[in-house]
Amino acid sequence: MNIHEALKVLTPDDIRVLQAIEKYLKQYEFVPIEVLERTTRLPPHRLERSLYKLNSLKLIRRQSAATLGYRLTILAYDVLAVLSLMKRGVIEALGDKLGVGKESDVYLGIAPGGKKLAVKFHRVGRTSFRHVVRHRTYKVEDSWLLQSKVSAQREFAALRELYEVGAKVPKPIDRSRHVVVTELIEGAVELSEKPALNDPLKAFGDVIETIAKAYNDVGIVHGDLSEYNIIVIPETSEAYVIDWPQYVEKDHPSAEKLLRRDVEYVVRFFKKVYGVPAETEEVLRAIKGE
Ligand code: ADP
Ligand code: MN
Repeated sequence: MNIHEALKVLTPDDIRVLQAIEKYLKQYEFVPIEVLERTTRLPPHRLERSLYKLNSLKLIRRQSAATLGYRLTILAYDVLAVLSLMKRGVIEALGDKLGVGKESDVYLGIAPGGKKLAVKFHRVGRTSFRHVVRHRTYKVEDSWLLQSKVSAQREFAALRELYEVGAKVPKPIDRSRHVVVTELIEGAVELSEKPALNDPLKAFGDVIETIAKAYNDVGIVHGDLSEYNIIVIPETSEAYVIDWPQYVEKDHPSAEKLLRRDVEYVVRFFKKVYGVPAETEEVLRAIKGE
């Protein structure tokens, strides 16, 4: 069962049950059946039928310990987010998976009218936290769904501010739950693929300018910058910085260290692959206007 299949088979009863479970995401790890009876106000046989179906489709998990209860799976949270975005008229259709990242799945989306979108499903905790763990502000006891939602909220808020000041980031469109929708940068490839560029200096400049705008105009540091979080359009050598949920504020104790590391990685990659002659210290001074 995937998102597309789930969207096709869900009835209004099923969606009502999923929404009722979601309502208590913060209160209960497993929402007691009595609470669902009260909240959905469905006749018992219809609630039972829905719960049985959702459980066998792996949209919910049942706990039959002392009290019978249910929680959402990640798939169900995906479905609720997509349904909301469709209802709001943000996306008309969800397309293929564009990529599986470290902590996300990115899908192609189609807006009403045909414009292409990037639909990013945040998946906090899917992989080990790697090096960014120290800078996360999430409470460990929060559920993965809620952590993924916080991650999406952070990224969406950062993208809005960055886009506002003219940084080269995908235009943010909307967010629901753990899902962020942005414009799709068409024809872009990850810098890590080392595409041939007519004007590598232009791409390098785009990235440094975005780091500078983030730092000076928004007051944040990306904190996980590398060739994997930069996408470029080979035809125009335009570069965009993506993947912002782990950003830190300028006054965070690690901000300066992370800024230096971000710049170092970018400088090193552009030097090694494209022969761009730049020095970390010099670039850092330029960013800070020193
Ligand atoms: P992760 O946290 O999983 O690394 P990213 O935001 O880096 O998530 O996205 C993963 C991949 O999806 C990117 O490397 C890129 O190839 C693709 N991608 C993400 N956003 C866009 C976009 N707006 N336009 C085009 N491709 C994108
Ligand atoms: Mn990434």
